[in-house]
Amino acid sequence: MTCLFCKIAAGEIPANKVLDEPDLVAFHDLNPKAPVHVLVIPREHIANIAAAGPEQEALLGRLLLAGARVAAATGVRDSGFRLVLNAGPNAGQSVDHLHLHVLGGRSLGWPPG
Ligand code: AMP
Ligand code: ZN
Repeated sequence: MTCLFCKIAAGEIPANKVLDEPDLVAFHDLNPKAPVHVLVIPREHIANIAAAGPEQEALLGRLLLAGARVAAATGVRDSGFRLVLNAGPNAGQSVDHLHLHVLGGRSLGWPPG
């Protein structure tokens, strides 16, 4: 297994976890871009949202809802937050294991850079 986020999900690489569930893990981003910056990942290795299929529909629904739960748990639900899925080079995806960014705690610019 060479995937960084698979290793975090398996507990082989440490991470500051927010959620540790049967099919999902959430942990603080190592290089946060906002006061709250958490990544939610499926334990299952999926390269990105473009590689997901209908068999992952329920899992992806749970991933989004977990993002909202993380926003509540980290205190940014009411002030506002952003959920981001980067896919591929132009979006700046740097880890090829699907991850949902939960960003909040400051005003976030739009459109994104
Ligand atoms: P992306 O650019 O969308 O692929 O996001 C990858 C994110 O993973 C970046 O925000 C990195 O800061 C973050 N990251 C990389 N390695 C780690 C790690 N070991 N623990 C936590 N976050 C990480
Ligand atoms: Zn992986």
